[in-house]
Amino acid sequence: MVTFSNEPFTNFALEHNRRAFMAALIEVKALWGKQYPLVINGQRMITSTMLPSVNPAQHGKMIGLAAQADSSLVEQAVESAADAYQSWKQVKPSVRAAILYKTAALMRRRKHLFSAWLVHEAGKTWQEADGETAEAIDFLNYYAGEALRLLEGRTPLVTVTGEDNQWTYLPLGVGAVISPWNFPLAIMAGMTAAAIVCGNTVVLKPASAAPVVAAIFVDLLVEAGLPDNIVQYVPGAGSAIGDLLVTHPAVRFINFTGSMEVGLQLNEKANRRSPEQRWIKRVVAELGGKDAIIVDRNTSIRDAAEAIVQSAFGYGGQKCSACSRAILHEAVYDPVVEEIVRLTRQLNLGDPELFETNIGPLIDRSAFDKTAAYVEIGQGEGELLCGGGRDRSIGYYVEPTVIAGVEGRSRIAQEEIFGPLLAVMKAVDFQHALALANDTPYGLTGAVFSEDRMNLEAARERFHVGNLYFNRKCTGALVGVHPFGGFHLSGTDSKAGGPDYLLQFLQPKVVSERL
Ligand code: GLU
Repeated sequence: MVTFSNEPFTNFALEHNRRAFMAALIEVKALWGKQYPLVINGQRMITSTMLPSVNPAQHGKMIGLAAQADSSLVEQAVESAADAYQSWKQVKPSVRAAILYKTAALMRRRKHLFSAWLVHEAGKTWQEADGETAEAIDFLNYYAGEALRLLEGRTPLVTVTGEDNQWTYLPLGVGAVISPWNFPLAIMAGMTAAAIVCGNTVVLKPASAAPVVAAIFVDLLVEAGLPDNIVQYVPGAGSAIGDLLVTHPAVRFINFTGSMEVGLQLNEKANRRSPEQRWIKRVVAELGGKDAIIVDRNTSIRDAAEAIVQSAFGYGGQKCSACSRAILHEAVYDPVVEEIVRLTRQLNLGDPELFETNIGPLIDRSAFDKTAAYVEIGQGEGELLCGGGRDRSIGYYVEPTVIAGVEGRSRIAQEEIFGPLLAVMKAVDFQHALALANDTPYGLTGAVFSEDRMNLEAARERFHVGNLYFNRKCTGALVGVHPFGGFHLSGTDSKAGGPDYLLQFLQPKVVSERL
């Protein structure tokens, strides 16, 4: 078994790395405008409705066109996945794992190219893109190792005299993977890889805002040896094909990452059994967050403010792990706010193609409009300290925005914005800070800055989030190190990149033989 270790990030302080990345950006740019067919049963098809994928930093530039599936193509995709399942489930787990390891190795060799697609298609800065490609490589390697651990060995059971008892895991069947645009490579690859390494087949509906990088990934899987009927690649609007996929009687499980609203609707639909359906569908969902960083009275103001700014504005706040609430003890409120504003003003908003950019555009017009609306709402709920400006003439740019003096039940303190807007709140003491932190419908990530051991321990017990960090930022979970996923309406309490993850795509069977 290969020991897992995380893929290192690229050190862009080194000139040769910067040059290599720049070369990849140019190489990918030369590929802009190509058509990406959908893939069903290994057949590649261009359809009459081709969806343009645009560069959010320059929305006049189209980076590729993805073929859209209609309902009859989705039907075909599910049928093909169901057929392919009959043979794929019999392939040895070690062979399935080997394909993931090979895919990871190929991706590592073309690392900057994948990252360059993320810069152009998702508007990620160099560091964010590089981090995401590293995460995709990690998911592939980690789930390959997990499949070997779970499926190759024999799970020990209590022994009884005169009987042989065996526990084995079986795959589930056809899975619908509905992946998000904010990690259009890493999360999409992780959700897909976890399903197939267990012996399931997949109908992948990539995010409509970033389908190209997913098409390239699906080709990479095939290049690494995956039979080309195992993953069906079917782009299409959620409103047009999402319901069909989720309610199809041959679909056994749904793995969704996206908004709470869509996740809840999808969960409801998946729970209704259709007459031909012979199972209870499993829904694995990773939804939103309204994540908070608490700053206690005795801590490093500089470190806390830096972590808040990084967590709030990394990728423009378009992460479900992003810090959208800073909850500050009143004793340090003023100096921490001052430092947050100082650091935020230093951020370079611009085209992420440029190395100097720290914060790029929002993904599309609707994200821009939504954030702009919340900036307006926020100004009625607190004091705008910096940012608020926006411009969508070339790309979807919104300045990193800090609004202070916000009350716990304000809209900007309760609703997920998914943009660069930080609400700053004051707590009278640590207990109050914890109460504010827990007072949202979500429970994904959170952080506490404190040097008071008792307060950290109180947070360990009572800060109800799936990923809690002490004295560091609340974004950037590493595969295997910080298995990721949350409580409440943040999802189904599953942990991507953790030791329980694959179990969601497997069912255990026990065979007992009287000897
Ligand atoms: N896992 C990512 C992180 O820790 C966030 C994933 C997401 O936004 O969906 O920052």
